[in-house]
Amino acid sequence: MTGGLIAVGMLPAAARLRAALCFGKGTTSMRVTLNYAACHGHQSCAIAAPEVFGADELGNAVVLIDGDLPEALHAKARRAAGNCPEHAIAIEE
Ligand code: SF4
Repeated sequence: MTGGLIAVGMLPAAARLRAALCFGKGTTSMRVTLNYAACHGHQSCAIAAPEVFGADELGNAVVLIDGDLPEALHAKARRAAGNCPEHAIAIEE
């Protein structure tokens, strides 16, 4: 074989695991929790991550996703937590 690609199925188990992690198939979990008592309803969280945060009838934030967030939303959730002026958002990774 002269360079080129090899199929992942041809690799030993340890190499397959490394390949999966390198290509993003390994997942990291992230959960978002909200301190409702601290929330003042700015809604900057919902602007930063509308898939993750919404508003209740009073305009305070609610978390829309129960459990692990999809990896595609991790950066948005981190941005929302970082921009919350009341530090009401906690991220568990
Ligand atoms: S930015 Fe923070 S304080 Fe404002 S609505 Fe969102 S969670 Fe609540």
